[in-house]
Amino acid sequence: MDEAIQAVRDDVAALHSELVRYGLVIWTGGNVSGRVPGTDLFVIKPSGVRYDDLTPENMILCDLDGNVVPGSQGSERSPSSDTAAHAYVYRHMPEVGGVVHTHSTYACAWAARGEEIPCVITGMADEFGGPIPVGPLAIIGDDSIGQGIVETLQNHRSRAVLMQNHGPFTIGVTAKDAVKAAVMCEDVARTIHISRQLGEPIPIPPEMIDRYFDRYQNVYGQSTDDRRDK
Ligand SMILES: [Zn+2]
Repeated sequence: MDEAIQAVRDDVAALHSELVRYGLVIWTGGNVSGRVPGTDLFVIKPSGVRYDDLTPENMILCDLDGNVVPGSQGSERSPSSDTAAHAYVYRHMPEVGGVVHTHSTYACAWAARGEEIPCVITGMADEFGGPIPVGPLAIIGDDSIGQGIVETLQNHRSRAVLMQNHGPFTIGVTAKDAVKAAVMCEDVARTIHISRQLGEPIPIPPEMIDRYFDRYQNVYGQSTDDRRDK
């Protein structure tokens, strides 16, 4: 089990650099977490540590109630302030192996207006299978955000939700998959925002969205980690 925990520490620490690389975060904002496979544990970013200083050693091990595992490496620090939301998602969505939260600019701009991002790009149909939905305005610090994420994404194809007046949360079968969803969410938020400035984007008919999504997710036949590498 120590090996499995170490592997997730390595993975989650490294994946934070992708948030920086793609311009999704500023200062110490944003966070990635990853479930330790086969356990009731997950690893998440510490609170208030700069991205340059994130290492596998200072990632924080939590149980699925969001409590830091006493005596574990890094346990002298506080976990991300969004830990309760991540824990709630892991408790209620057993298929989820990774969760990401950012305040990326374009996704937040949609969230501030409480408007879902319409599915008007084939790449978005591939990746999200439809619009990226809006979740409720939620209090920070209790289960409200987690509940809003789960209620919105359960039975939805999208791996991203725009929490109203707040920003995007994404899920994935792995932490890497959730990071990819965060990157793609910001990309479509930006593209479709720009399209709106030029006129009204053309909707893709629902049956075509189904076909794009099915082909990309199933027929295309790649593991989720590779599914954007076509
Ligand atoms: Zn936030």
